Formats: sequence, C-alpha cells, structure tokens
Amino acid sequence: MTRFPPEPNGYLHIGHAKAAIIDSEYARLYDGKFILRFDDTNPENALLEFYDAQKEDLRWLGIEWDAEYHTSDNLPRHYKLAEQLIGQQDAYLCKCSPEVIREGRFHGKSCACREQFTGPVGLDLWKQMLTSRDMTWILRLRGEMNSENTAMRDPTLFRVITTRHPLTGDTYHVWPTYDFAGAVEDSISGVTHPFRTKEYELRDQVYFRILNLLKLRAPHLMEFSRLSINGMPVSKRKIKPLIEQGLVSGYDDVRLPTLRGLKRRGIVPEAIKQFVLQQGFSKVESVVDFSLVESVNRKYLDPRVKRYYFVPDPIQLVVKDAPQKTVKIALHPDATMGERTIHTASIFFIPRQDAMKMNLGEVFRLKGLYNVKIIKKNETIQGSYSGDALIAETAKIQWTTEEHIPLTVFVPGLIFTGENFNPESLQELHGYAEKAVAEVPSGDIVQFERVGFVCLEKQKTGLVGFFTHK
Ligand code: ATP
Ligand code: MG
Repeated sequence: MTRFPPEPNGYLHIGHAKAAIIDSEYARLYDGKFILRFDDTNPENALLEFYDAQKEDLRWLGIEWDAEYHTSDNLPRHYKLAEQLIGQQDAYLCKCSPEVIREGRFHGKSCACREQFTGPVGLDLWKQMLTSRDMTWILRLRGEMNSENTAMRDPTLFRVITTRHPLTGDTYHVWPTYDFAGAVEDSISGVTHPFRTKEYELRDQVYFRILNLLKLRAPHLMEFSRLSINGMPVSKRKIKPLIEQGLVSGYDDVRLPTLRGLKRRGIVPEAIKQFVLQQGFSKVESVVDFSLVESVNRKYLDPRVKRYYFVPDPIQLVVKDAPQKTVKIALHPDATMGERTIHTASIFFIPRQDAMKMNLGEVFRLKGLYNVKIIKKNETIQGSYSGDALIAETAKIQWTTEEHIPLTVFVPGLIFTGENFNPESLQELHGYAEKAVAEVPSGDIVQFERVGFVCLEKQKTGLVGFFTHK
C-alpha cells in the first residue's frame, strides 16, 4: 500500500509527477493499493481550488487511485494521540517564543516547559489550547535535546493556526505539523511503503520515534532523490514568486515545469511517465536537462502527429511561368493519417533564412510540389519553374501560398540562468502557416516540417503556437 500526499497549496509540477508515478506504479507492480491523501494541515496554505486542480492534473497524467481522503478529516484522532503522548510524558506544551525555541535547539538546551507542562498539567493545558484560540502555545515531542540530529531536538507536533480552513472552516485551530501528521497518517491508513524525497532523511528518526511512542505500526519508509532540472524551478516555493511578481503569465506558463505548463507546451503524459521511470528510483541527487524529457516526448509524437508547413520570417517568392496546380500532400509518411489539398499559383512564401543562403541560378524544391530556379534576389525572390521531377540533393523547403494564416509561435527557453530570472526566456517566432492549420483543434500538437513540434492554442485574439521542441 502506497500513498501520494500532496499539500493542496499549488499546482502540481513534474517533481510531484515523479512522486505520484513512483507511488502508484509501485502499488500496481505488487498488486497493492494506492491512496491519494491531501496533506492539508496548514490552513494558511491550503486553498479549495487546489484540491480539484491537483486531482485533475493527476488524472491527466493517467494516474488512478484506489482511495482518497484528507488529513484534515482525521483531526479528532490526531488529538487523541497527542493526548496519549502528553499523558505518557512524551510530549509537552511549550510557551516559549520562536526565538527562544530556536536558541534552545541550536545549543541543545531544553526549556522549563519540558518538565513542567507534561503529564496531567500538560493535559489540562492541552484541553485549554483546544478550546481557546488565543493560547498560542505549541506541543513538542520530548525528543533528545542533545541529539546530533537537530530534527530530534524536541520537534513541534502541533501549533495554533487560526486561519479558516477550506474544508473544516473554523472547527479546528490546533494543527499537526508534517512530522506528526505524516507519520501518523502513513501508519493508521495502512500504508506499508511510504516514499518521500531525500531532504526529509533527517526527519526519519522523528517519524519512527513518534510511531514507537504511540505503539503504532511502523511502515517501511523509503527515500528517493528530488527531481531537479537545469534552469527550471521544480518546486512550488520557487514557482510561486515568479507568478506573484508577474514574471510568468500564470501556473500554466509554458516555461514552467508545472503539469499545466508542460501540457500547454505539448509535452504528453505518456512522455512524463516514461521519463520518470527511465530516471528510476534512486537517492543520487542529480540535475537533469529538460532535453531528456524532450527526447522521450519526440519519440512519442513523431509517429503520431500530423505535419504541416509553417514559414518563419517569410519572404515572397514569385515563380515565372508557374503551372497552376492542385496538389494533395500527405500529412505524415504514414498514409493513413490523410492529406490536405493546396492550390498553387505563382506567389509563394518561403523562410527568409533559406532564401538568403541560396545563390542565383541555384535550384531548390518547394517541398511536395516542384523545382524552382532562383533568378533574382531583392526584397522578394524571383524564380522560374524547373520541372516536377525530384532532383537528388536539392534543398527541399516548406512554403505557403497567398492563402495562409499569420501565426506567432512562442518559444520557451530556460527561465533561470543560474539563480536569476532570464528575461529572454520567451522568444517569438512570427510567420505564415498554411491554411489547413486553421482547422487544427485547439490543444493539438503538430509538427511544422523543418521547424519543430508546436502545440496550437486558439486564443481570443486568434491562433497561437507554443514551441514544444525540435
Ligand atoms: P514544493 O517544494 O514543490 O512545495 P513539496 O514537497 O512541499 O514540494 P508537497 O505537495 O508537500 O510539495 O509534495 C507532495 C509529494 O511530492 C511529496 O512526497 C514530495 O516529496 C514530492 N515532491 C515534491 N517535489 C518533488 C520533486 N522535485 N521531486 C520529487 N518529488 C517531489
Ligand atoms: Mg510541502
């Protein structure tokens, strides 16, 4: 039995996908069960919209869960267990200020509360804390104040947060910390193999101590490395400021590794899953390049998506004696994917960059159509018709006719250079797409021949594209 425990405080990113995929795949592999648990014990962060958004994103990833619940459903049970710890003198109420607590932890020195506010006295105070919203004490584990492991220096188990909770409203104001809630929930919900990221390793001792003192079953806790990607913020903490400062358009900005950003950019869930499984389950910390995701995605898209012509930075080409043609051009080497029909006359558009590279007298091929010899190069190109037959080793260039649609393709780059926001992380490619592109449904990914894969989106102002990768 495994679980994925997101905090409903933001949109999921590819790091969460890694955790969720490992959790769910592990359960499938051993014919087990997989639980989705919302770790919503900090009302300051939890927002109602995120519960549904996270589920929606998990479904998009193709993840299915056998059961679902909220840690906030179980607070009465947590309170009972807290009482047990206080009664056993394994936890105490502490009224010291955060500074004093920090100092004490730093020097490994305990405070007077440790001896005073436990047992029956502690229980009385605990009951007061549960009823009074003004008593901002905390409940601490009687750990080991002189432990080498600073996490063991009487960690906080409960604290008062009076912010209204999106699900329980004002019913509770004493909330368990991650240390307490995480350990208790894994145990009482029957999870046998909880996985978490390596940064919690120091807290493992706290996890087992709490369960041991409560005589609760200890699951087989395992750790894997956090996913980090060069130049990308794979962390809610890093993504949030970018949105708040208006540096990105929102949680679905195509430069972000959020599942929504990736989807919008044309990364498919199958590729994310394959990428995660390829990385495997390891504790070795590494920073990978996003190109690894791209290469899996490319392999997935290449045989499946339709190919069209898009001409970036177009220059006009006028072909002398051009035969008028009606051509059917296949949308993919796999003929079952259909074709489109294009009528041609004497005016075309080709990429300026290609045109600039060619010399007078040179012959090139309008891809899928016929050959053209260049006879003049000014603000426009003039050419002459040079036959239909394929000539070996001539450049084959994509084109559009006068019947085209103007299209802007946004090209995401790395959002960070080192630790700094890269203001040039979103480039624009302006050009003409062939008319058939107007009929492609919003959200579909296509391949623009010789340019790359692009995810199309119909916006109020018209069609735009997001560059997926080459
Ligand atoms: P963030 O820094 O993005 O807020 P978090 O760990 O606080 O991350 P949670 O919602 O608490 O986010 O995490 C749910 C699960 O996802 C946890 O098990 C966590 O370890 C895992 N997770 C979060 N980020 C990553 C990542 N970059 N790589 C792998 N797993 C991750
Ligand atoms: Mg968190």
